[in-house]
Amino acid sequence: MQCDHCAQDVPDGVFCTRCGAHQGTTQESGNAKTREHRYAAHPGEHVAQPSVISTLFPHLGHNKVHEFRWALTAGLAGVLVLYLAGLITAAILVAAFLVPVLYLIYLYEAQVYRDEPATVLGFTLGGGIVVGIVVTILGRAIYNPFDYNHNPLGSASISIGGLLIVGLLMPVVQEVLKAVPAYFLPNHAEFPETVDGLVFGVAAGLGFSLAEGLIGFSSALTSLAHVAPGNWIYDLTTLAVFQPLMQGSATGMVVATIWRYRRGRLGGREIGAVVMAVVAHIAFSAGTLLLKDAAVNPLAILIWQAVVVGALLIYIRYLLHHALLEEAAHMGFAETVCPSCHTHIVAAGFCPNCGMALTAAPNSIKRSRRPRKDPAATPSGGE
Ligand SMILES: [Zn+2]
Ligand SMILES: [Zn+2]
Repeated sequence: MQCDHCAQDVPDGVFCTRCGAHQGTTQESGNAKTREHRYAAHPGEHVAQPSVISTLFPHLGHNKVHEFRWALTAGLAGVLVLYLAGLITAAILVAAFLVPVLYLIYLYEAQVYRDEPATVLGFTLGGGIVVGIVVTILGRAIYNPFDYNHNPLGSASISIGGLLIVGLLMPVVQEVLKAVPAYFLPNHAEFPETVDGLVFGVAAGLGFSLAEGLIGFSSALTSLAHVAPGNWIYDLTTLAVFQPLMQGSATGMVVATIWRYRRGRLGGREIGAVVMAVVAHIAFSAGTLLLKDAAVNPLAILIWQAVVVGALLIYIRYLLHHALLEEAAHMGFAETVCPSCHTHIVAAGFCPNCGMALTAAPNSIKRSRRPRKDPAATPSGGE
C-alpha cells in the first residue's frame, strides 16, 4: 500500500514503517503524522503522559516497564519501613541509591552501552558522581544557607543573596557541569541516536544527584540528635524520588540536545529543552527554598516538586517523540521482533503494527535484526 503521509510504498499496517504515521482515518484525536496520541517509544501511551519509567527508561519493553515500576514501588516501601522502624541512616542510604541502582539495572537490561560498559558508565554515571562531589563540596564552602534541603529545622531565615546563589546560580552551574562528562564521551559516534544521548544524560544526572544527596544528608546526620523525627519522611521523599528525577531529567534533556546538535538538528524544540531544563531546575531549587522559608505544610513542597518533575518528563517525551519520528525514518528493512507488541515483523524504522520507533529498541533486538530487501524494491542504506 501507499502511505498517506510520505507517499512511499510500504507493507500493510496500521502505521507506516517508513515515517511512522498513523494510517487511514483514525478515531483517535490529533494529527496522524505527528501522532502524539501514540508516543514513539511506548505507543500505548500519549506523549503528554508524565510517566516516570517509560520516559526515563525508554528502551524498556512493555512488560519490563511494569517490572521496573514494581521495583521502584517496592524500594519506596522499603524506605518507609526503615523510617517507621527508626532506622534513619539505613532509610537515607536506600533512598539515595534507589533510583541510581534501578538505572544501572536498566542500562544492563537494555545493553544501552553495547560492548563498552566501562567507558560509557565512567563518562555518564561516574562522571556525574565526580561532578556532584566537587560541585556540592565547593558550593557548600562558598555558601551554605541553612542546609536548606536537609535540615527540617530550617532555623535561620534565607537572605536574598542566599536565594540568588542556591536558587539561581547553583542550578545554572549544575546544568552546565553535569553534562560535561557525557559531552566528552570518547566513543559517542557509536551512539548516534538521540535516545542514547537522553539515557546517558539521565545516568549522569542520577550520579550527580546521588553524590549531592549523600553529602547533603551526611551533614544533617551528624546533627541527627537535634532533629524532629516527624519531618524526615518529607525530606526522604525528596531524596528518593524528586531530587534524582529532577536532576536526571534535566541533564537527560541537555545531553539529548547535544546529541541533536551533533546530528545537525538544533531547532526550536531543542533550544526549548535546554531552557526548560534550566528553568525547571531553578523553579525546583528556588521554590523549595522559598516554601521551606515560609514554613508551609511540607506536603505542599512535595507537590511543587512533583509538578516541576512532571513538566520535565512531558517535555522529554515531546523532544524524544519528534526525534524518534525523524531518526527512525532512515532505517533499512529487516526482520525483527517488535519490543512493544512482540509481533514478528518485517519493518524499517517503525513497527507497522503498534507504531513503535525501532531505534528505541533494546540493543539485543537491534543486533538480531536480519536485513531484508525493501519490499517496495527501492535500495536503501540503513542498518
Ligand atoms: Zn509514511
Ligand atoms: Zn509493535
